[in-house]
Amino acid sequence: MKNQLFYYKGAIHIHSQFSDGTGNISEIAKAAKKAGLDWIIITDHNSLDIDEGIINGVCVIRGEEISPEFSNHYLALGIKNCISHDTDAQKYINAVRNQGGFGFAAHPDESNFRKNSAKPIKWTDKSIVPDGVEIWNWFSDWADNYDDTNILKIAYAYLFRHNLIRGPHLETLKWWDDLNKNSTKIIPAIGGVDAHALKIFKYLVPVTIFPYKMSFKTLTNIITLNEKIPENFEDKKRVILNSLRDGNNIIINRHVKDEIPIINIKEKTIFIKLSQTSNIKILRYGEYVYDGISKDVEFKIVKSGKYRIEIYLKGKPWIYSNPIMVD
Ligand SMILES: [Zn+2]
Ligand SMILES: [Zn+2]
Repeated sequence: MKNQLFYYKGAIHIHSQFSDGTGNISEIAKAAKKAGLDWIIITDHNSLDIDEGIINGVCVIRGEEISPEFSNHYLALGIKNCISHDTDAQKYINAVRNQGGFGFAAHPDESNFRKNSAKPIKWTDKSIVPDGVEIWNWFSDWADNYDDTNILKIAYAYLFRHNLIRGPHLETLKWWDDLNKNSTKIIPAIGGVDAHALKIFKYLVPVTIFPYKMSFKTLTNIITLNEKIPENFEDKKRVILNSLRDGNNIIINRHVKDEIPIINIKEKTIFIKLSQTSNIKILRYGEYVYDGISKDVEFKIVKSGKYRIEIYLKGKPWIYSNPIMVD
């Protein structure tokens, strides 16, 4: 009999009313349910105040975005007590580990060339090794490309907001590949929505930039399991967090196309199966070893190492896998 696989979609990096988001937990969970998500992780700035549990049919997990004012934001997961941001990055990375948790460097390479007033918040010292990397952040991507120098550009940025999205920064991918090259373990990646549902007034017109439901239909992390996820909250949470810690998630931009990509490895062959012809790239430590247009690929591995996959659909960044270790 064929082994059955189970897929669970989730969004990471969400802000609620406990920091600079506008929604409460019930509204956020409801929006996630409507967007077809099974789980979400709410990471308020310097806060662990929000409740967690199964809410409106969605598994809601709490984390903290450790947020110094100007740099080095860190998404801390699996921690019990709030960790101070008022120290250097290595100290809070260690504090997260001391609580049995783990974390992801958030939006590490926001652009210096923004044409708006939002200051980029970067990971300033790349020699400090985080447990994982948020390789793509939807809201940062939009803010990096949001031009507010005239009213037409502002209107475009709201009406066609998804057109501003460019995909992960190349320097972030390079950093992540290097981290993996220099480690025997998998340094995992996530895609974060950084959802705030911010309400702003521009020329007296109130606009919500990326309402929660809209955000939740964009960057999604799909966890694949060999068995059904447990029903009760604590077990569910443990399985989801362990999956992210191990890099057992695929990052997909569902705004391009919503599907479950089949990516697996058997006997030193990587199998990829998609519903549509796409540009599939396979990388080994950041070097391209395959680049083709297809909807399915069987790639034989001759050299051991860590491999990862990037897929573009109609030129748009679509799917990013975590590294797969091949001996
Ligand atoms: Zn941040
Ligand atoms: Zn954030």
